[in-house]
Amino acid sequence: MKNKLLFLGPPGAGKGTQASIICSNLQLMHLSTGELLRAEVVGDTDIGKQVALIMNKGELVSDEIVLSIVRKKLVNANQAGWLLDGFPRNLLQAKALQTLLDELSQPIQAVVSIEIKDEILIERLISRGRTDDTEEVIRNRLKVYREQTSPLIDFYDQLGMLKAVFGEGDIEDVALRIRKVIE
Ligand code: AMP
Repeated sequence: MKNKLLFLGPPGAGKGTQASIICSNLQLMHLSTGELLRAEVVGDTDIGKQVALIMNKGELVSDEIVLSIVRKKLVNANQAGWLLDGFPRNLLQAKALQTLLDELSQPIQAVVSIEIKDEILIERLISRGRTDDTEEVIRNRLKVYREQTSPLIDFYDQLGMLKAVFGEGDIEDVALRIRKVIE
C-alpha cells in the first residue's frame, strides 16, 4: 500500500473525512493545513492572529506561513507515511513541496483527486456549519479553488501521479474506491 499521499479536491469534496479514515487504517500522519491553521487561531498565537481574518474570508493564507508549518511537520514526522490534505493549494506551494520532498528523499506516491459535482459541494458545505462556511465565504472558497488550486490536477497528471476518484455516495464506498487506487 502506498503511504506518501496527497489529496486534492474542492472544499466540501470530503477530503478531510476520507483522509481521517485512510490515516487511521494505514497509520499515516494526517497533515491538514486547514486543521493546523485553525488550531493556531483557537490558540490565539502570533500565526493565528495573522491568519484569522484571511481564513474567515475564504482566501489563502500566505505561502510562507503554510510552507513553514508543513516543513516542520514533515521534517519531524515520526511515522513512515503521511497524507497531505488541503496542501498544496497553488502551484508555488506544489513546487516548494517537490523541493522539500526531494531534500527528504520522500517522493509522493499518489495524488488522489476526489471528484464531485458543484451542487453537492455547496449542499455539503452549507450543512457543515463551520464559521468559514457562510454562503458568501463558500462562494469565495470555490472561486479560489477554481483559480488557484484546480490547476494542480493537470500539474500532477502531467507528472503521471494523478488518481481520480468519484467522491459521491456513501463515505465507506468512497473510502473503498480510494483504497483501490493507492494499492
Ligand atoms: P481547509 O480546512 O483545508 O478548508 O482550510 C481552511 C482555510 O485555511 C482555507 O480557506 C485557507 O484560508 C486556509 N488554508 C488551508 N490550507 C491552506 C494552504 N495550503 N494554503 C493557504 N491557505 C490554506
